[in-house]
Amino acid sequence: MRVTPDTVVTMHYTLKNENGDILDQSNEERGPLAILQGHGNIIPGLEEQLLGKMKGEEFTAVVEPDKGYGEYQDNMVQVVPLSGFKGEGDEKLSQGMQVQVETNQGPAVATVTLIKDEDVTLDLNHPLAGETLHFEIEVVDVRAAEEEEITHGHAHGPHGHHH
Ligand code: ZN
Repeated sequence: MRVTPDTVVTMHYTLKNENGDILDQSNEERGPLAILQGHGNIIPGLEEQLLGKMKGEEFTAVVEPDKGYGEYQDNMVQVVPLSGFKGEGDEKLSQGMQVQVETNQGPAVATVTLIKDEDVTLDLNHPLAGETLHFEIEVVDVRAAEEEEITHGHAHGPHGHHH
């Protein structure tokens, strides 16, 4: 069976950046990833390149930012007063930490990139924005999705969602 819309694809993956550093990967502990093809479960560039692949197939998919996590946008970096973060739990704010913030578009995750004096620099870009992504994929299984999975818009079963 080939990967078409409304099939459930189970795969092992390794994600590397342009320099070959491993950013993320499936492994024995976490098991393979199961996705429902054609429902935006994964970035568009990878979904596109999965189409037509078969069980057992191994391939490399290179995904440019516009079909990955978007281009890096300078206007998504903001400097806000440190005082705005007081009283939000005991954890001390530190560089590299991810924090939940309120934006005009609703809640978002930001990365703290700099703390200087009374100012905090927040980067609202996705951590992988601007990156060309290199995926090494091994298609472990392809099966037709259940009616319920299509209704929910995601894969069920041992490697999918559990609800
Ligand atoms: Zn579900």
